Order: sequence, then C-alpha cells, then structure tokens
Amino acid sequence: MSSPAPSLTDSLRAVGFRGELRPHEPLAPYTTWQIGGPAELLAVPSGVDDLVAALAWAASGGIPWRLLGNGSNLLIHDQGVRGLVLRVRKVLDEIKVDGPRLTAGAGASFPAVARTAAARGLAGLQFAAGIPGTVGGAVVMNAGWHQFETGNAIVAVDFLQPDGHRTTLDHDQCAFIYRGSLFQRTPGVVLGATFGLKAGNPALIQAEVEQYTTARKLNQPVDRPSCGSVYLKPAGDFAGRLIDAASLKGRRVGAMEVSRLHANFFINTGDATCADALALMDQVEQEVAMQFGVELVREVEFWQ
Ligand SMILES: Cc1cc2nc3c(=O)[nH]c(=O)nc-3n(C[C@H](O)[C@H](O)[C@H](O)COP(=O)(O)OP(=O)(O)OC[C@H]3O[C@@H](n4cnc5c(N)ncnc54)[C@H](O)[C@@H]3O)c2cc1C
Repeated sequence: MSSPAPSLTDSLRAVGFRGELRPHEPLAPYTTWQIGGPAELLAVPSGVDDLVAALAWAASGGIPWRLLGNGSNLLIHDQGVRGLVLRVRKVLDEIKVDGPRLTAGAGASFPAVARTAAARGLAGLQFAAGIPGTVGGAVVMNAGWHQFETGNAIVAVDFLQPDGHRTTLDHDQCAFIYRGSLFQRTPGVVLGATFGLKAGNPALIQAEVEQYTTARKLNQPVDRPSCGSVYLKPAGDFAGRLIDAASLKGRRVGAMEVSRLHANFFINTGDATCADALALMDQVEQEVAMQFGVELVREVEFWQ
C-alpha cells in the first residue's frame, strides 16, 4: 500500500523552510477589511532563504502562491484561497538611513518608514504616514496620496524572481504608473526599496506629517475596517464625489456600508462577508454608470 501524500506543511518543511507555517489559516485577521476565508497554507518566512526555498518548492509542485503584506488593499473570497500565501510583514523589516538615502525591507511598515525619515529630517515620504501598508505593498501598488506617489521617491528596488535570482531594479525599470508598477504583472517578491530623500528641517517635516495625518482623520473613516479607496480615480473626477452625488452614502449590503464620511471607503460594520462587499460594489458601479456614464475601476485587489 502506498503511503499518503505529505501535507503541504510537511513537504515545505522538508525543503528547509524555517519560518512559521499555518495550514488552513483564516485570512480575515490579516486584512484591514477583516474579510476572507482560509489560506490552504499561510507561511511567514524567516528570511530571504525561506522565500527562495518556498518559491522553488511551489514551482516544482505546481502550487499557486501569493504575497501578502498588511492586507490593506485586498478583498479575499469567503472560501479562502488555494495554495501558499507568503506573508511578508514584520519580517525583512529593517530600516537603514545613509545620508539622504533610506533603505527599508519589504516587511517594514510604510508609516514607520515615513516617521523614521521625518525624525531624521529627510523629506519626501511625509504622505506615507497615513498609508497602512508595508513597503512591499506600497512599491507594488505605487501607493500615493494627492500628488505624492511612492515611485517618485524610489531609487532602487531589491527583487527576488521565482527562480531564486535576485536583482536590483532602478527607478525607471520599475515602470511606475498611477497605483501600479511592473511588480503587479511580474511574478516575484519585492524584498526592499531604497528611497532618495531630501535633507530638510526636521520640525517642518514632522509638522507636515501631522498635518496630513490630521487631514486624513477628518476626511476618512481611518478607525473603521476598510481597504482604503475601493476605486481608482476616474479621469478628471473623483470616485468618492461620484458615489456621493449618486446618493449612495450609507448604502448597505449585509454589514458592508458605503462610508458616510468618504464615499470611496466601504466600511465593514461587523461581520461583513466578501459576498457583501462584491454585491455592494456591483450596486455602486451600476448606479454610477447609470447616472453619470462613468465606469468605476476597482483599486482593491480580489483574491479568489
Ligand atoms: C485606511 C486606509 C487608508 C489607505 N490610504 C491609502 C492611500 O492614501 N493611498 C494609497 O495608495 N493606498 C491607500 N490604502 C490602500 C493600501 O494601504 C495600499 O495600497 C498599500 O500600499 C497596500 O500595502 P499592503 O502591504 O497592505 O499590501 P497588500 O494589500 O497586502 O497587497 C497588495 C498587493 O501587493 C502585493 N504584495 C505585497 N507585498 C509584496 C511583496 N513584498 N512583494 C511582491 N508583492 C507584494 C500583494 O500580493 C498584492 O498584490 C489605504 C488603505 C486603508 C485601509
């Protein structure tokens, strides 16, 4: 009689993965929307070697894999996802400053990077203090606020290809666009980034951080579970303005609600499901298309 196939956990351990492994781990607690069923296997690498081992293992076994940062731009299916989810947060999180250059690991918190830069009197990342992602997620998404974008401050990105090859891409090679980059369409792991900043007055830079953070608290429901902006900015307009003008503030499906404070934020008011979020998005998109002829494009990424 043949012996049963080893579990994903056992077989990943067998190739030398040393980090944490959590089979059938519910993903809702790992997202800011607090939605999502289990990952077949959630893995927290202990370092780059673990990532190299995991990617080779996934390739050889034909196992689908994904990267999870702080889960602040994700909607995860209620049924969860197959395969491996590699969580890079609070690992690979070193922040180093060398003159006007700041280098941070992918798992570092983007707000922590912004605060470190400000404390050292380095300008260029004040906008990032209110973006609750990791450096990896911010680079991939080219996260931004008003006229500021992550990509504008990037000098280089340290990138791991699925075959284990590690490369450094300069700013131009990253192909940053509005809320996007090369890394959205190129499989691999962002390991870290170097930001080119400008020396300035620490008190003034710090004051700007406070000013932006206060502005967010006044205009966005930052203390409620959300994914930030659900939709990208349509040409010449704002998704929030259109949703508000369509009288959709407060519209609800299950426990998911269009924020009354900022209509491009949908709030999980309790036990909202992915199905609730999708149904509310469908309603909002249909109403806005019908009333204004604008097709809203989702910024939040859907995992199924
Ligand atoms: C209250 C709130 C406010 C927000 N405000 C803003 C804002 O002002 N501007 C803005 O742009 N966004 C904003 N967001 C959205 C979100 O914070 C950003 O998109 C953020 O950059 C996502 O980072 P993350 O680590 O959470 O990535 P995740 O949501 O975990 O992942 C996003 C994508 O990046 C990929 N990824 C993550 N890490 C890596 C890695 N190391 N290597 C390769 N791929 C990786 C994932 O696979 C996924 O495709 C907000 C969200 C919330 C909840």
